[in-house]
Amino acid sequence: MRPEGRLAMMQGMTTERDVVTVRGLRKSYGSRVVVDGLDLDVRAGEIVGLIGANGAGKTTTVECIQGLRRPDGGMLSVLGYDPVTQAEQLRPRLGSQLQDSGLPDRLRVAEAVELFNTSRSGAGAALLERFGLAERRRAAFSSLSGGERQRLFLVLALLNRPRLVILDELTQGLDPAARRNVWSAVGQLHDEGTTVLLVTHEMDEAEALCDRIVVMRAGRVLDTGTPRELVGRHGRGATLDFALPDSFPSTAVLLEELRRVEGVGDVERLAQRVVVRGDRRIVAFVGAALVRWDAVPEDLSVHVPNLEDALLELLDSERPLSADGPAINHLTGERQ
Ligand code: ATP
Repeated sequence: MRPEGRLAMMQGMTTERDVVTVRGLRKSYGSRVVVDGLDLDVRAGEIVGLIGANGAGKTTTVECIQGLRRPDGGMLSVLGYDPVTQAEQLRPRLGSQLQDSGLPDRLRVAEAVELFNTSRSGAGAALLERFGLAERRRAAFSSLSGGERQRLFLVLALLNRPRLVILDELTQGLDPAARRNVWSAVGQLHDEGTTVLLVTHEMDEAEALCDRIVVMRAGRVLDTGTPRELVGRHGRGATLDFALPDSFPSTAVLLEELRRVEGVGDVERLAQRVVVRGDRRIVAFVGAALVRWDAVPEDLSVHVPNLEDALLELLDSERPLSADGPAINHLTGERQ
């Protein structure tokens, strides 16, 4: 199909609310397929996280969305433009902070703002103030801390009032305080209605920031949903752990009763401790049984799955996508 026909078709499928629409995106490097028929939607005002292990194809996908790489197949519409044929028009409307961004060592913060301010808006000073960099205006890039650099990249990404901001591994290598600082800056963007596509493999980051998450592996989407939906679908049940005093008179009978409680899959006695596993209803049902038995433990601990547990479950549950392909350690992305 000719490019104009392709864009017209995509525009027919999209509305004002659809900031990014990708259908069947394919990209290979040589004979290696790294994006394999990917669909993705980002709607106005959303923060969407693209998550997956190293090499899942996340960066390649966002590079195609920005018109920095030419896809081998599929259809893309970004802010109503085709990134393949209209990259020139599209790029000034995007704000992006790319993985491994860098600036010349001696460039000062204020000079970088001047350089990137192609729209000649007066937003620079206010953004530096907002992201806590006003005092560092005269500092050279090389003297900035990791957190300050990332905040500067955010300022540069926002300078030209983009409708879509793309952030690729924004907080990689930052200490916990600097990460929280950058998260809060992204949270502010969200509050103002900016649309953000965020690439990360930090699950806590995705949980803290994203309205929706797209989970990728080997160039394909495994699942997509809100953090809560993904936890609901893939987070295995709950675990309760508590101690019963030696003096408790009828431990064996109590454990037998707990095994019959609704939702309980397994009750294990480990020295003084009792570990109960099951679906999430056990938090209520086992709690009620312990109250009935007047055996309320003082050290009851409850573990219910968070997004990280759920996504590791999802990624590990899938067999290699190629039937005879190697197994992959999804924490590291390495082939085993
Ligand atoms: P990471 O989390 O490590 O950044 P990713 O999910 O962003 O990974 P990509 O950077 O899109 O994944 O890379 C997907 C695969 O394509 C990787 O195996 C990578 O080595 C390979 N790749 C990326 N860019 C190129 C290139 N220019 N030439 C050849 N192979 C490439």
